[in-house]
Amino acid sequence: MKVIVVGAGIIGVTTAYFLAKAGHEVTVIDRQSGPAMETSFANAGQITPSYTGPWAAPGLIMKALGWIIKDDGPLKVRFGLSLERYQWLFALYRQCTTDRNEQNFRQMMAISCRSKQLLQEIRTTLPLSFDHAAKGNIEVFTNPDNFRAVSQQIGRIREFGLDFQVLDAAAAVALEPGLNRDVLAGAIALPADETGDCHRFTNELATVCQSMGVVFHFNTPVSQLIQRAGRIVGVKAGQDEYLSDKVVLCAGSYTNQLLDGFGIRLPVYPVKGYSLTLPVVNAAQSPQSTVLDDQYKVAITRLGDRIRIGGFAEICGFDLSLPDNRRQILESALLRLFPQIAYQPQDATFWCGLRPMTPTGVPVTGQSGLENLYINTGHGTFGWTMCLGSAERLANEMTSTTKAVAMH
Ligand SMILES: Cc1cc2nc3c(=O)[nH]c(=O)nc-3n(C[C@H](O)[C@H](O)[C@H](O)COP(=O)(O)OP(=O)(O)OC[C@H]3O[C@@H](n4cnc5c(N)ncnc54)[C@H](O)[C@@H]3O)c2cc1C
Repeated sequence: MKVIVVGAGIIGVTTAYFLAKAGHEVTVIDRQSGPAMETSFANAGQITPSYTGPWAAPGLIMKALGWIIKDDGPLKVRFGLSLERYQWLFALYRQCTTDRNEQNFRQMMAISCRSKQLLQEIRTTLPLSFDHAAKGNIEVFTNPDNFRAVSQQIGRIREFGLDFQVLDAAAAVALEPGLNRDVLAGAIALPADETGDCHRFTNELATVCQSMGVVFHFNTPVSQLIQRAGRIVGVKAGQDEYLSDKVVLCAGSYTNQLLDGFGIRLPVYPVKGYSLTLPVVNAAQSPQSTVLDDQYKVAITRLGDRIRIGGFAEICGFDLSLPDNRRQILESALLRLFPQIAYQPQDATFWCGLRPMTPTGVPVTGQSGLENLYINTGHGTFGWTMCLGSAERLANEMTSTTKAVAMH
C-alpha cells in the first residue's frame, strides 16, 4: 500500500517508521528543510510516562485564574475575537470532572507506557544517538500545600507499573546536587522517566526510515488534499500532485488547515510554549536529569552537554513571537533552582513552539471519517512521550484495514 504522511515532526516520522516496518511504501512530505523543525525542534526533552496526564482536572479553573492574573504565571489566554479559542476552552472546561479526568488519564497512560516499551526496543535494535538518559525525573515543590496534594494523588501511576518516591529537601538534593535546597518544600522522584533530544531522535529515525525505503520531500508545503469520487487519493503541493492509496495527516497544530472544506474540524488548538537552551558550564551544579518545577510549571532538562528549560502555555492562536519577558521568567526559574550553573545569557537560544492540544489531552489517532484519510495529531504537552505508542497504533489500524479489504 502507498501511504503519504504529511508532516515530518516527531509524530510524522514515527508514523512513517511503523508504516514502513509493516511493509508499506511511504512518502513523507514537509514544508520545512528537514525533520522536526517546528514544535518537535526544542521541546523540554522529557519522556515522562509518570507525569503523563490531562490538564483538564477538577480544580483547574480556579488554578488557571490564579495563573492568568500573575505576570509570571505559567498560563496566558489572549481574550480576542476568536470563536475557535472559546469553543476549545469550553471543551477543556467540560473535561474537568473527576470521571473524565480519570478516563483521559487512563487513555494517555496506555499510550505513554506502550511508548516507553517501544523506545526500549528501538534503542536496543537501532544505533540512535539523541542525548538519551534514563535517570528518572524529579518534580520539586516550593509550596508545601502543592507538595502534599500531589504526593497524595501520584499513587495512581503504580497501577501502570510505574514507581515514585516522596522525598524531603535533603533527599532531593542528594539526587540533584545543584538544586537550591533553601527553596524546596519537598520533591517526588519518578525513576521510570527518561530524557532525550526530540529533534535529534526524529532526525536519526528519519535516516533509519530512508534506509527502509521511505522517501522524504522537504521544502514542500502541502496546499490541499486531493479528493476523487469521494475518496482522498493524495495531496497537492504547488503544481505537483502526490498520489497514494492512503494519506496520514501529522501536521501538528496546522492539521485543521488541511481539513478546511471537508467538513471535519479536529478539537486541536495551538498552545504556545517556550524553551531556552544553554551549554553546560558547571557540570556538577547543573541538572543531572529532568527537574520539574511546580511553581513555574517548567521542566529543566540535562541533554548531554546542554541544559534546556521549557514551559508556559499560551492560548493565543498561531503567534510565534518571542517576547523578552518570557525569556526572563525562564531564566529566573532556572536560576532560582540551580543558582550555581554559571549562566551565560549570550550563549542561550530562546525558542517557541505550538503544541497541538486537545481538550482531553488524548491525541486524535485513527480514521478521519473521510475514506483513505487518517490522522495522528493532538499530542499536546506529551508528544515526545506518547509518539511511539500512537504511531504504532495507527500503523496497526491502517495495516489491519488493508488486510481486511484485501481478504474480500
Ligand atoms: C515548550 C515545549 C515543551 C515541550 N516539552 C515536551 C516534553 O518535555 N515532553 C513531551 O513529551 N512533549 C513536549 N512537548 C510537546 C511536543 O513537543 C509536541 O507534542 C510534539 O512536538 C508535536 O509533534 P508533531 O509532530 O505533532 O508536530 P510538529 O513537530 O509541529 O510537526 C508537524 C510538521 O508538519 C509540518 N507541516 C505542517 N503543515 C504543513 C503543510 N501544509 N505542508 C507540509 N508540512 C506541513 C511542519 O513543518 C512540521 O514539521 C513540548 C512542547 C513545547 C512547545
